Amino acid sequence: MTEQVRRAVVPEQLTLGGMPEKLFVCTPSKLGAYEDCPRRYRYQYVDRPQPPKGPPWAHNSLGASVHTALKNWHGLPAESRDPAALARLLRATWVSEGYRDAEQGKAAFALALRWLEEYVGTLDPDEDPVGVERVVATRTAVLAFNGRVDRIDRRGDELVIVDYKTGRSPLTSDDARGSRALALYAVATARTMHRACHRVELHHLPTGEVAAHDHTDESLQRHLTRAEDTARDIVAAERRVSGGEDPDDAFPTAPSMRCGWCDFRKVCPVGSAAPEHDAWESVARALDG
Ligand code: SF4
Repeated sequence: MTEQVRRAVVPEQLTLGGMPEKLFVCTPSKLGAYEDCPRRYRYQYVDRPQPPKGPPWAHNSLGASVHTALKNWHGLPAESRDPAALARLLRATWVSEGYRDAEQGKAAFALALRWLEEYVGTLDPDEDPVGVERVVATRTAVLAFNGRVDRIDRRGDELVIVDYKTGRSPLTSDDARGSRALALYAVATARTMHRACHRVELHHLPTGEVAAHDHTDESLQRHLTRAEDTARDIVAAERRVSGGEDPDDAFPTAPSMRCGWCDFRKVCPVGSAAPEHDAWESVARALDG
């Protein structure tokens, strides 16, 4: 990490009328929610009691199950990392919510197991990652960021961020390059583990493909600056609400294709007009191939 990024992550003493300014505490999901749709951010993080969410999505259950199985795979002693162990690991923490019925859940389990078997076949069972579901954190003058990285590898003198993906869409290096979350993970990992980290990788389990990007200090700094801009926008919106502005104006809707998949579609005046998706629809498509 060059001095440029190092300076950016060291908190400075920002003051407001002589009082230290509070840092905006955030995760990638929190920043991403606002960037995608300020109204969704408000429903998720500001309104209390929180508006009711829709039912759990089967694709989230599938993704969570696969992530946990991979975490537990790495938790096994190296000599026990045999693909035959995967079915047991997957079954032990299988999340069954959201599927259409038991039959679909069973088919999804078989699909997840196939992904896992093919994926771990590409891994060296004797190699331990530097971190698995490791929490990393960093601070700047504006925000205090923390996040949980799926996997951190060491390659040569550098660390590499690995993020597992289970969605249907194929991924490209542009997805890895443009991911704010991955860039912030790289900055926070370097900061937490005191070792350079520039490479970020999306590992797409359905295809086994890896979409990667090698950041520079400058590109990491750009992501960090945009994250700070988002944090400032959120704080400003919250202050406007405290000052009496209508929360609907301070946190406007940002309709998009995502509305049909939004947890708050039913309570959102815009989202309720979006086409409704069944909780198991995305998994049904994955099963259809
Ligand atoms: S339904 Fe669409 S506009 Fe409404 S909160 Fe969700 S993402 Fe935003």
